[in-house]
Amino acid sequence: MNTEAPSPATITFLGTAGARIMVAKQLLASGGMWMSLAGEEILVDPGPGCIVQVTKRKLDPTRLKAIILSHRHLDHASDINVMIEAMTEGGFKKRGLVFAPADALEGDPVILKYLRSFPEKIYVLEEGKTYRVGEVSFTPPLRHDHGVETYGFNFQLPGVTFSYIADSRFFPELPGAYHGQVLVINVVRKDPGHPFFHLSLADVKTIMLEIKPRAVVLTHFGMNMWRDKPWELAENLSLETGIKTIAARDGMKLDLVELAGGI
Ligand SMILES: [Zn+2]
Repeated sequence: MNTEAPSPATITFLGTAGARIMVAKQLLASGGMWMSLAGEEILVDPGPGCIVQVTKRKLDPTRLKAIILSHRHLDHASDINVMIEAMTEGGFKKRGLVFAPADALEGDPVILKYLRSFPEKIYVLEEGKTYRVGEVSFTPPLRHDHGVETYGFNFQLPGVTFSYIADSRFFPELPGAYHGQVLVINVVRKDPGHPFFHLSLADVKTIMLEIKPRAVVLTHFGMNMWRDKPWELAENLSLETGIKTIAARDGMKLDLVELAGGI
């Protein structure tokens, strides 16, 4: 059991849209998650409109210590170049770390070559390796089944653990790889059987019951999740599993310490 005094830890959802059609329609915003963890500002999956949402919410990209990319799909990665420039003041202030899968940098790269010298360092993510940003450490525990190279992350900071389970088709090893007190899960699909390798609501329930976290936050909604009101689906999951489940909303700021039961 973790007995350390918990560090402050919040996530602001810059958007909650997932997959192509929802992102194209912008019924929900897209743009990823802004995390403030133990005093470190960390941006995860800067999808379309990230810079717009960041400035709208008066967040300061020059304060970012790191940008983390789970995978190269556009709904997660389209604004990564804009955000690297924003973090580094157009490349004039060398600062910040970038973490990305190898295929975001090779072949048909989503991170442009001309700005790769702007951050302090670009790390190529490796399965099972632990990375550090100040007092925050995070590990991509295993490669997801999502077509392109994709990772989720277990985050650890003093007194708090949480996991971000990024896009994937369900496979038996997936739940066992994550152990956060709070889980943030991308659930694009309400129903299983989609060809694009996404988790369905039933998959999320399986994951919750295996991991038994203190709380779960659903995000990255596709059209059919949205039509069926994610907040009602989350409430049903809470009742079915006995685990507090929240549907993220655009602009929502969540206190991870509170959700983890730390206060
Ligand atoms: Zn994807």
